[in-house]
Amino acid sequence: MSCIFCRIIKGEIPALKLFESEKTLAFLDIGPLSKGHALVIPKYHGAKLADIPDDQLSEILPTLKKLVTATGATDYNILQNNGTIAHQQVHHVHFHMIPKPNDTEGLGISWPAT
Ligand code: IMP
Repeated sequence: MSCIFCRIIKGEIPALKLFESEKTLAFLDIGPLSKGHALVIPKYHGAKLADIPDDQLSEILPTLKKLVTATGATDYNILQNNGTIAHQQVHHVHFHMIPKPNDTEGLGISWPAT
């Protein structure tokens, strides 16, 4: 299996996992744009949002909200890229949760969230 995120799901590649359920996984981004930058993915493999069945997406927004709450960040970006032209590098659907640096400094984020 060549998809790096599918390999993280299977535990074949290490990742700092923050939340996991039957359908969804959240883990820290390996190249964070700010402290606490996390990714939320459906376990169902699909490259773009339109490839994922609705029922596999049901926990994504609640998980993003959970991560935001855990960081305590007041300002943050939720991003999701689809396709190479849109700067998607990993072709397994993922949502970025990026706390803004000025808001996370000094907040004492301590992952993993429990
Ligand atoms: P994209 O540009 O929206 O596809 O973002 C892909 C993200 O995946 C980037 O922010 C990378 O830093 C992140 N990434 C790539 N490989 C890994 C990994 O093995 N673990 C965690 N994050 C990764």
